[in-house]
Amino acid sequence: MPSDAVSMRAAAGPGKLRRARAGRLAAILAALVVAAPIAASRPAFAWGRNAHRAATRLAESRLTPEARALVRELLEEGESLADASTWADEHSRDIPGSAAWHYVNVPITAERYSAEHCRDACVVSRLAEFRAILADPTAPKARRRMALRYVVHLVEDVHQPLHVGDRRDRGGNNVQLTYFRDEFTNLHQVWDSGILRNGYRGERELADALFALARRPEAQEWLKGTAEDWADESLAAAKKAYRVPGSNELLRSGARLGREYQYANLPVALERLARAGMRLSEVLNADLAAAKKSPDAVPAPHFRGRDRDRQPGRQVPAQSAPR
Ligand SMILES: [Zn+2]
Repeated sequence: MPSDAVSMRAAAGPGKLRRARAGRLAAILAALVVAAPIAASRPAFAWGRNAHRAATRLAESRLTPEARALVRELLEEGESLADASTWADEHSRDIPGSAAWHYVNVPITAERYSAEHCRDACVVSRLAEFRAILADPTAPKARRRMALRYVVHLVEDVHQPLHVGDRRDRGGNNVQLTYFRDEFTNLHQVWDSGILRNGYRGERELADALFALARRPEAQEWLKGTAEDWADESLAAAKKAYRVPGSNELLRSGARLGREYQYANLPVALERLARAGMRLSEVLNADLAAAKKSPDAVPAPHFRGRDRDRQPGRQVPAQSAPR
């Protein structure tokens, strides 16, 4: 069904739309900079706090010295990268419409993610937009700080299977179930935190497990791919997450899950987080290296193609308009 965004794109053309989108995002970021100091925090949703922090610690351990220095320069005094990783959840209510930036609803019957799933704004499009700001050395520091917090958070969120796979149930939020002794949870929460909480005692233990996974030789293979590929992986994992272990039966509200589900899905959840951490380090190393380039350096014409590949700002897909 053609949405307003699609018809607007047809009328406006990608360049005009991109400028309009950049303008809207700039306005949102300006509001954020003002709202942030007085904003109240709220309990995290999406990957739980420990998951975000542990994946971020893995990413941080792999930063180049120059990326590390720029991270320190951009964040507030005393704010660690792990602190920054949960900022977007803690301030989601203060930024109207921003909840939709954390996920994309792709039907689990779909083969893969496509731009039409993104609608107005989603985790894939917002990640590209925030990366462009982070990599822009001419952007004001406060905007780049906000972009950094979002880039960290959204790279991680796009790896949460139920932030991508959906059965018209808000990514499993409407599937009420019992998980071990937790009688009032739902499938989405099980993936945000339930599985990990039942597998690891806290952030430190979870981070140790992620570091161990990242040391395996096959982890080098994870560094390839785009945000769209990462969404495809999450979709594949979600197809399994929605099923009763060992069968093709779909989970329904009222299900009682425990050991069997945990055993089948803990390795999946852990690897999603390890991949997120590894990829986040690549993203930050690339964007913060690009950001160091002199703002008025004009590349020679025959280098433009290569330069475009290195500039995340040029990769913003023109699939949707922001809210
Ligand atoms: Zn989130």
